[in-house]
Amino acid sequence: MRPPERWPLHPAPAETESLSSWLRRIAASYGLHSYELLEHELGQRELSDPELDLDPPTHLLEELAKRTGLDQHRVDAMTMAGWVPWLFDSLIPAPGAYETYVHQLSVLLPPKRRNIYAPRKWLPWLPGTGARRGCPDCLESSPTVLLFWQLPVIASCPVHGRRLETYEGRPADYILWATPAHDRRALPESLSLMDRRTWQAITTGSVDLPRYPVHAGIWFRLLRTLLDELTTAQGRYGRQLDDVRRVWEHCGHPFRAGLYSWQPFETLHWTAQQQLLEAAAVAMELIEAGSLTARGTSAHLLRPEPSSNIGDGTRPAPLTETADAQEKPTPDVLWKRALDSLGAAIAAAKEDPIVAKQLFDVARYGLRNEESVRALRETFVELQIPLDFLSQTNDQHPFA
Ligand SMILES: [Zn+2]
Repeated sequence: MRPPERWPLHPAPAETESLSSWLRRIAASYGLHSYELLEHELGQRELSDPELDLDPPTHLLEELAKRTGLDQHRVDAMTMAGWVPWLFDSLIPAPGAYETYVHQLSVLLPPKRRNIYAPRKWLPWLPGTGARRGCPDCLESSPTVLLFWQLPVIASCPVHGRRLETYEGRPADYILWATPAHDRRALPESLSLMDRRTWQAITTGSVDLPRYPVHAGIWFRLLRTLLDELTTAQGRYGRQLDDVRRVWEHCGHPFRAGLYSWQPFETLHWTAQQQLLEAAAVAMELIEAGSLTARGTSAHLLRPEPSSNIGDGTRPAPLTETADAQEKPTPDVLWKRALDSLGAAIAAAKEDPIVAKQLFDVARYGLRNEESVRALRETFVELQIPLDFLSQTNDQHPFA
């Protein structure tokens, strides 16, 4: 007998909850295990937690959306596959994936100093085995496991301001906290800030950086770029070596997290990954404060806006603040501000590939067919924004 279309009980998923966690909670509301729910209700063989959370069969996700009445995008976002292209370019390792993801931007070092290492089969952020990490405070109030806790992209809980910890077992059944003593350090403010920004990227799709908000996709790549720069060979730092040493001294970890030979961030142990995240956070803090030399093409994103306005050459008229600035702006004023900032963004996009890409991503959002995207590209041509700024699939280095 076919079960009813819609399940009467289905706990709402928490923000960024993983699919395996949500299924476990749905199953529990019927007194079942999730493999029983998968088999009897959905006709699906048992899938491990990492299989469920990475890229489960599409028909399973569609069926889950039907059974729970949840929006399909919301269900998809509980899996890593749902985060293509924001967090991952693809889940299939492709030649040139590392260069595309990690070498397009640059923060600390000029781009030409970095193109030395690139693993062949590589996916960003994905650890080899299903990592079990979580916030003890979050898990004490609910057995909800978040998708992003599994990835070395975030090291603390922005809600409770504490480090994520490693555990064994399964929340709700039993949990044994297993963080080694050397990883139990206080959470530095710089790391807390970086993780709050990452959390903002995950939950809102953009990050407020000192200069202007950037698209989440840019933020993830900017962070991964900095992690790469902090592990590059010592000889590549040139005159910046002292600066980079200062970053490591500032966070109290060995230079390059003690790595003797290079390997990609994803394959490192969580202890070294945390040290690298801390170093990246310190580097960002120092760049923002103007006390670290950053020669990369994207470093300006981390620096505050210069005090004097840089004219865009086309739209001089800045909005004049009148004496009654406290008054609520009228719709006319708000509209003018929106146009001014759009004008400034277009002017900046003509010069800066990152802004161009960001503007394109924002404008492309919601465009569902190739024709609309082509029309958007034509608009960029009319606005004189170079289209090669948008190139993603590149053998050559677009920002070099
Ligand atoms: Zn928490």
